[in-house]
Amino acid sequence: MNQLIRAFAFAADKHRNQRRKDAEASPYINHPIALADVLANEAGIDDERVLLAAVLHDTIEDTDTSHDELVRWFGEEVAHIVAEVTDDKSLPKAERKRLQIEHAAHVGHRAKLVKLADKICNLRDIATMPPADWSDERKREYFEWAKRVVDALRGAHAGLEALFDEAYRQGMPPRRAA
Ligand code: NDP
Ligand code: ZN
Repeated sequence: MNQLIRAFAFAADKHRNQRRKDAEASPYINHPIALADVLANEAGIDDERVLLAAVLHDTIEDTDTSHDELVRWFGEEVAHIVAEVTDDKSLPKAERKRLQIEHAAHVGHRAKLVKLADKICNLRDIATMPPADWSDERKREYFEWAKRVVDALRGAHAGLEALFDEAYRQGMPPRRAA
């Protein structure tokens, strides 16, 4: 419990000047908290390393946090899970998205759980508080890409996969006849 509180404090500090892309520019930290909530309270996962990695999952990708810093505060295993869900930002965006599909099957079990929660939360966000300038077509493209990532790691956790499928079914913007 104390480590988890430390992770929330650490992530809140690292993301303190960041906002999500929705119209209201919600505080960034809401997103890592949402992942931990899905994992713990919707999927019943109590593996502390998974919950810690979920809270910390965007710190390397989106802040100045280093791998060593995560090792120092949260240990090698948690730092490793975060590394497994971190995109290489030196690559072009389309390449990063392709690599997520390619790598999803090959990361460790705990990283798969964090990835599932991340995709569940992002689909829910796009359905309820989307980036302000996204067309329905762009939202559909994101849903389809997220599904390709999840399809590549199926078998990791039936409960999370069901939550993803529900978010996909409920949130996918309908195609309208022209
Ligand atoms: P982005 O990667 O730019 O945005 C999605 C990411 O933003 C999510 O994965 C999430 O990442 C984060 N995020 C922050 N706030 C929200 C929110 N409110 N709801 C959901 N996600 C949020 O977009 P794309 O995934 O679409 O990737 C860009 C790709 O799209 C490029 O390849 C580009 O070429 C293409 N593109 C397509 C367009 C189109 O109209 N189809 C137009 C322009 C570009 P995290 O969890 O890591 O924070
Ligand atoms: Zn995320």
